[in-house]
Amino acid sequence: MKTLEEVLQDWEAVIGLEIHAELTTLQTKMFCGCKLEFGAEPNTHTCPVCLGLPGALPVPNKAAIESIVLAGLATNCDIERHSMFYRKNYMYPDMSKNFQTTQGPIAFCMRGHLELDVDGPGAKERVDLDGLNPGESRDNVTRTEDGYTTRVGITRIHMEEDAGKMVHIGGGEGRIAGATHSLVDYNRAGTPLIELVTEPELRTPEEARLFMQKLRQIYLAIGISDCSMEEGSLRCDGNVSLRRRGETKFGTKTELKNMNSFKNLHDGLAYEICRQAQVLEEGGTIYQETRHWDPSSKRTIVMRVKETADDYRLCPEPDMAPFDLSDEFVDNVRKRLPELPDQKAKRYEADFGLSAYDARHLVEHRVTSAFFEAGMEAAGDAKLAKPLANLVINDITARMNADESFDLETSALTPARAIELVKLTASDAISSKQAKEVFAAVIDEDKDPAAIVEERGMKQVSDTGAIEAVVDAVIAANPDEAARYREGETKLIGFFVGQCMKQMRGQGNPKMINQVLAKKLG
Ligand code: ADP
Ligand code: ZN
Ligand code: MG
Repeated sequence: MKTLEEVLQDWEAVIGLEIHAELTTLQTKMFCGCKLEFGAEPNTHTCPVCLGLPGALPVPNKAAIESIVLAGLATNCDIERHSMFYRKNYMYPDMSKNFQTTQGPIAFCMRGHLELDVDGPGAKERVDLDGLNPGESRDNVTRTEDGYTTRVGITRIHMEEDAGKMVHIGGGEGRIAGATHSLVDYNRAGTPLIELVTEPELRTPEEARLFMQKLRQIYLAIGISDCSMEEGSLRCDGNVSLRRRGETKFGTKTELKNMNSFKNLHDGLAYEICRQAQVLEEGGTIYQETRHWDPSSKRTIVMRVKETADDYRLCPEPDMAPFDLSDEFVDNVRKRLPELPDQKAKRYEADFGLSAYDARHLVEHRVTSAFFEAGMEAAGDAKLAKPLANLVINDITARMNADESFDLETSALTPARAIELVKLTASDAISSKQAKEVFAAVIDEDKDPAAIVEERGMKQVSDTGAIEAVVDAVIAANPDEAARYREGETKLIGFFVGQCMKQMRGQGNPKMINQVLAKKLG
């Protein structure tokens, strides 16, 4: 099979996402008073409404509607003042009502969008930006210095309810194939769920991944869901089709179900794009079907061919009056909008003089932006913003990614200690290499950076005399290398710096060593 980069030279990928979020921060279900609780004893949070017993009448959860309106406002949607619920009819044991209550053609939130900033290696997936200079735009894309920005339309965000959970017994790994029987837990049935549907305007797996990541940041900022992809409170289906570059008509799409991590979403789409290209290039046909991405075997498998909307017999819900949201209701929700990640990043650029790249990466996690802000408060010096941002974006984020048990909020590395460490490096008291060692020691030993520096006898030698003496000795001890350097083999500078560092047991100021070496060798 060709690689993604090869395929995208000839084919344009068209991707649209459907993203479900459970409103986990609410107290009760969507249409009844049952408690929302993950991991409770099975079937302990049920009632006639969420089980669909005869005569039970639904009452919509006002807090859930406030949450979806908040989500709509945070994603630039129009809030529809008039909308209603529908029944989506189907029979499956996880839905004992035999229909799901959902919304029809008009949802609470319509016509929104998000801006994505794409940079780094992932920006290379977009192979059609040749000839576009920074600042120039084509369609919904604007070229930037280190990548591009793109605006992705949101078709709608609608309100619906989750189904119960099936547990299959006797088959392998809880799968239905080979199972002798199945159990069903209705605790999750009726959980308020919002589904966001994007326009088919994403063009690469990286854009899809970034969209999902950005949406998660926004939902976390507005506090409507814990957005746990592992526990399934944030789930994503990816729709993807291919068309020849230059073609305007869409191809037939397949849908990848339930990608439960950003990496799976990216890799599943990338695989599916390559698979479709192969089928099409061999003269085959893509069927509209639902596929499952299996990360361990790295391929997608057919789950079912697509049912059409008609199969569900969508009809207006007779037990609930249509909604009329007042301007006052919407305005009150608007007042609850917190500072969103994009706004926060803009503030960091303005207040601390950070680059757009740094600012964006700081706000990627709520904990890292809170840590940065607390650090800057402790620092009281805007000049420390850049080195602190580097510490957060590089060292802290790497630690968070590498070590799942690392919790920044309770870690021994407090914002005050981080600033202390940043000051030690900024004042050349320790080298940046030593700073890495101190960083790890603060976390592992729960001590102040200064105490660790003292204890380990770390200091950076920035005394010109001492450095010159070492440089002279090293040059004298390596006459051959010195001659070669002087004949133009300037990459030997690395060798000399290494030798000097070794002599100084890693404590020499590398910047000064470089300068002195260049002077003495030149
Ligand atoms: P369906 O009726 O199959 O559910 P929808 O029109 O509701 O399809 O769209 C579902 C999702 O698929 C949306 O995110 C939409 O942007 C995306 N989509 C629609 N058509 C295509 C296509 N040809 N290729 C890729 N994605 C598509
Ligand atoms: Zn209930
Ligand atoms: Mg659809």
